Amino acid sequence: MKKMLFTLAAAAVLSSSCARHDGLTVLTCGIRHESNTFSTITTGLDDFEVMRGEEVLASGQPWCRYLQEEGIEIIPTLHAYAWPGGVVSREAYETFKSEILEGIRKAGKVDGIYMDMHGALHVQGVEDAQADLVRDIRAIVGHDTVISASFDLHGNVSDEFASELDFLTAYRTAPHRDGAETKLRAVKNLVRILREGLRPKIAHVDIPILVPGEKSITEVEPLNPIYARLDSIEHTEGILDASIFVGYAWADLPRSAMRVFVVAQDSLHAELAENIADDLAEDIWNAREEMVLDVESGDIRSMIKKAYSMPQKTVFISDSGDNTTAGAPGDNPQVIQALVESGCENALFAGLVDAEAFDACLEAGKGAELTLSLGGRKDNVFGKPFTTKVKVVDFSDEETFAEGRGIVLVQTGGVSIALLDRRNSFTTVSQFEDIHLDPLSFKVVVVKLGYLYPELRDLAPAHLMALTSGFCNLDMTSLPFRNVRRPSYPLDPDMDYHPESSVF
Ligand SMILES: [Zn+2]
Repeated sequence: MKKMLFTLAAAAVLSSSCARHDGLTVLTCGIRHESNTFSTITTGLDDFEVMRGEEVLASGQPWCRYLQEEGIEIIPTLHAYAWPGGVVSREAYETFKSEILEGIRKAGKVDGIYMDMHGALHVQGVEDAQADLVRDIRAIVGHDTVISASFDLHGNVSDEFASELDFLTAYRTAPHRDGAETKLRAVKNLVRILREGLRPKIAHVDIPILVPGEKSITEVEPLNPIYARLDSIEHTEGILDASIFVGYAWADLPRSAMRVFVVAQDSLHAELAENIADDLAEDIWNAREEMVLDVESGDIRSMIKKAYSMPQKTVFISDSGDNTTAGAPGDNPQVIQALVESGCENALFAGLVDAEAFDACLEAGKGAELTLSLGGRKDNVFGKPFTTKVKVVDFSDEETFAEGRGIVLVQTGGVSIALLDRRNSFTTVSQFEDIHLDPLSFKVVVVKLGYLYPELRDLAPAHLMALTSGFCNLDMTSLPFRNVRRPSYPLDPDMDYHPESSVF
């Protein structure tokens, strides 16, 4: 594979009066994945999208533009991303890791490294792949190189991983609205640490809580006032940043927990960082019983019945147990079956992941009627195929097929079903437009999500949570945990806890 070194000597940048020329070099890399250890489906090499070299520079991401504008030499290695899913194959991880390490060796001495991570990566047969990766990076670059990393707040960042970092920060919103901003913060702090010669200290404290994202939304009580404090903490004298990790609870691993990190600019402010971390942890712990769903929830049939009784023109229902954005297969047809058997009218199911049904409809063509066996192929633990007669109504436009995100729309009775040939969820309005649909023209729209993603959250007149079975079950106490640390709340509801931070 060809790896190239890109200097940012673009004329426009060099001629800019704000560009600095301090000769800094920053190498970049990343493996972003949220790995659901309950899922039976491995995430393989082919499931990843990979950016290298010039593709990274051309991606226009704010963190990249910032480095370019600052006149810093960027050496992008490999940035890999896959949709949340089962544990990552050893082959995929080793392939990515060796390419990153090779890029680092070839680059020679660099001042800084930016790691663009999710934080919930788990790899077959590797206890803590993220720690393994950063340790191998350190083995090459030593401790003079400053390493900064950004994360999704649903990451499970272990002590072994974090202790190798000089700086880390995480999203402050769930549903996520600040991904680009967070990455930019990680990179700006990296540059600041290098230019000011800072020696940061990271205060960290675990909070033994296993909570799904749906019960830890940052826009509502009890977490929104706690998250709101992070901005002012970041601007406290001597403090560079603070992060609250909700963690990723569908990972049966010792590192699955909530966690707070506060980065002090130097050892003089380490105690302050520890105090802040303990205060945040204490307040989160005290709020644990208030971390509940912010919408009405219940079994599938009661949620369908409820939706049709509501005055709102459109009601969104989350099929939460089979949420592909949290790593589930997305092919459990249980809600489709309930909609059809309940004789529902004007309902849209968006969407079911089923490549075979998708292909059968493409072959049959628009207007064809056929009997389809839907779903239950991947998730054969909780899902069973549902057989029904459908009419092929529409296909998304050619470009969506070319980009591998084609959609087929079929109809059975009053229920429209969007079929996907690969794992995805409807998270944006444009996906409905791809299939020429206005979600607000339906009475009920079912999505394979837990919480609604920002665009849909802002659009939906009403939202209900169907507590469906699946690898993303929202009831933590029903999951077969074996490896998480005990005690953990809510598995051990009467446990005691007092935050005791320490410092890397
Ligand atoms: Zn997340």
